[in-house]
Amino acid sequence: MSLFIHLDMNNFYASVECQLNPSLRDKPVAVAGSPEKRHGVVLAKNEIAKKFGVKTGDTVLEAEAKAPGIVFVPPHFDIYDKISKKMFGICNRYTCFVEPFGPDECWLDCTETVHLFGSGEDIANGLRASIKEELELTASAGVSFTKMFAKLGSDIKKPDATTVITRENYKEKVWGLAVGDLCGVGNKTAEKLKKLNILTIGDLARADERVLKKLLGKPGVDLRRIARGEEEGQVREAVCSRDVKSVSHGLTALRDLVTREDGVTLIGYLSELVAARLKKYSFKASGIYLGIRYSDLTRYGKQLALPSPICSSSDISDSAIALFDEIWNGQPLRSIDVGTFALSSAAQPVQLSMFDGTSKTESREKLDEIIAGLRMRYGKNAVIRASQMNEDIYTDKDVGDFLPFKR
Ligand SMILES: [Mg+2]
Repeated sequence: MSLFIHLDMNNFYASVECQLNPSLRDKPVAVAGSPEKRHGVVLAKNEIAKKFGVKTGDTVLEAEAKAPGIVFVPPHFDIYDKISKKMFGICNRYTCFVEPFGPDECWLDCTETVHLFGSGEDIANGLRASIKEELELTASAGVSFTKMFAKLGSDIKKPDATTVITRENYKEKVWGLAVGDLCGVGNKTAEKLKKLNILTIGDLARADERVLKKLLGKPGVDLRRIARGEEEGQVREAVCSRDVKSVSHGLTALRDLVTREDGVTLIGYLSELVAARLKKYSFKASGIYLGIRYSDLTRYGKQLALPSPICSSSDISDSAIALFDEIWNGQPLRSIDVGTFALSSAAQPVQLSMFDGTSKTESREKLDEIIAGLRMRYGKNAVIRASQMNEDIYTDKDVGDFLPFKR
């Protein structure tokens, strides 16, 4: 069963402003575009302003009428952006599938990694604790088996709370909510549904599919599936999203990859690039990701959390090849991505596992170092791994430097 978490920072802009200026904390505060010109609009408000009834989208004048003495501050988007990146970085400790939904919300797909951290609720609480400790902000989280139920969950209890929606309790937790609470149901759609007496998410779930199709077209059918917990929304590959805390490299091959050996060759090469970058920035990775794209451009990806952190190219390629063997269906491939996530400082002491053969890991890291040294002295092609002799697959002429966190 899938496991999704939706994380939503509480009153994000206003909370950041109160953090920047603690004297605002016990006052009603709104972040507003051009408050000095009276026609500015409220972009965000803190909990106190909310209690006065101030809403996002109110004009400055309206907000002032509702909450006398409200303090307006202009937005600082550059600061919000920095904090938002940190938040996505915290999420990447648990999975590389992190899909931002605006600057202060995201989904995590923890299906593959949940067993390492206990339960979905444990991950959600861990995320919130780290956000509180490191960013001094609060967030709400929803945990569920579909993306949209996870999103609803993060709204059910806030601020600073986790809500778990399971196959056993979703009718009780979700079906009583207004249909307009569902992501994708705007005012217009809600109005149309109201005419059919569909007011709650439960009403939508129990409605006749054909009637919904007639009323709203295919989106009506999709919404009904969402309400029934039958939707199959995926979290987009975060290795491809912006500024997440992962080090990865992908390449489109010079020709289609048709044999396993072709795939292994490119993975070996990409793993070396990833290892070199991890080394450069002194990181080890506890998670590995492999993405493949077929020649018909469909994509597949799989990730794996590792029992102990790795950084050598052989360890990276071994794990990536294991994933490759699991997901490749034998059809021609156009490109491959190898990524690492859940990064920690290489200087950090590693907890030794009884089974992981640390001496092998160490000797592999040593080998990487020797190869890097030889290449430094005698040129890049002084040493080529036997598995990488197949150079019609890639050229390495334009491999630039890549910063971690960027892609
Ligand atoms: Mg929010």
